[in-house]
Amino acid sequence: MTTPSIELKPSSTPLSDAEREAILANPGFGRHFTDHMVTIKWTEGRGWHDAQLTPYAQLSIDPANMTLHYAQEIFEGLKAYRRPDGSVATFRPDANARRFQLSARRLAMPELPVETFIAACDALVQQDKAWVPEHGGEGSLYLRPFMFANEVGLGVRPANEYLFIVIASPAGPYFPGGVKPVSVWLSENYVRAVPGGMGFAKTGGNYAASLLAQAEAAAKGCDQVVWLDALEHRTVEEMGGMNLYFVYGDRIVTPELTGSLLAGITRDSLLTLARDLGYESEEGTITTDQWKRDTENGTLTEVFACGTAAAITPVGTVKSTGGEWTQSNGEPGKVTMELRRALLDIQTGTAEDRHGWMHELG
Ligand SMILES: *Cc1c(COP(=O)(O)O)cnc(C)c1O
Repeated sequence: MTTPSIELKPSSTPLSDAEREAILANPGFGRHFTDHMVTIKWTEGRGWHDAQLTPYAQLSIDPANMTLHYAQEIFEGLKAYRRPDGSVATFRPDANARRFQLSARRLAMPELPVETFIAACDALVQQDKAWVPEHGGEGSLYLRPFMFANEVGLGVRPANEYLFIVIASPAGPYFPGGVKPVSVWLSENYVRAVPGGMGFAKTGGNYAASLLAQAEAAAKGCDQVVWLDALEHRTVEEMGGMNLYFVYGDRIVTPELTGSLLAGITRDSLLTLARDLGYESEEGTITTDQWKRDTENGTLTEVFACGTAAAITPVGTVKSTGGEWTQSNGEPGKVTMELRRALLDIQTGTAEDRHGWMHELG
């Protein structure tokens, strides 16, 4: 399949420098959007076509649009970072592109070619480069590629028309007041994903399934929910929209990909990065009993979560029906913070990129 070239139709009325700078001074997360977006259409028989970069604008959606009824929707999340020389680079966009294809397959949607996905992200970042926060402040430009069924009708079947869009939103530092551990609730009443389900796909439906459990965690006084396996509620899977790592001295372990976990790109990168720093890293099985026991006997020294939005977040207090315990005295752990620094240094261009992860845009 050929990659359609992207027709550039930029805005004649982008925000002024002063307006943009005011937003970048305190962007928060997912509240403000840049001046442009990229859209690409797919229709049965014609494939991908009509790739355009246009001003960011509202969509007009028919009330019988299939996505509104049957949720055939997938998305991605990746970031563009400002480097010390003022240039901009994204982190492993090829990995996001491949995961987007996996998600598409699971939801019976067409697969966007990897090079088209990357070209769409590149075009938007190039156009809205001024929106990438300056180097040194832990800010970034969050890119949100997504695709949804864009056909009208209430019959249940894969749609024969889709719309792929990339939008971008500036993100401030995740921990403006310094890195702070989160408290977590081990969810036994609700599960995120089941064997044979769509846990490995990045789709809005998984997030819809998570909201009530997140509300339960909040009611228990916790920041985040930890997902357990659907059948026995014993094996640890992930935390909210992030993957988990368990630090045993100089060995770090992350739950293996069983099909109900989302294969995080941060998770994958840390398996490699930890080895570069002299740690052992592996995938394995961690049960809730083991989590409690190994914390109490002192072998499990730190726990952290990882994902694109927050990079690395330490886990502090753990609450469950089986009791409550605290990791590393409720302080960010040493290994957690070392890995966090190492990852951010590669992403922001202050450390050598030994694995070719950064995609430079000039
Ligand atoms: C996106 C996501 C992650 C993290 O993936 P990254 O590629 O590291 O950002 C983890 N879990 C879930 C459920 C997710 O949706």
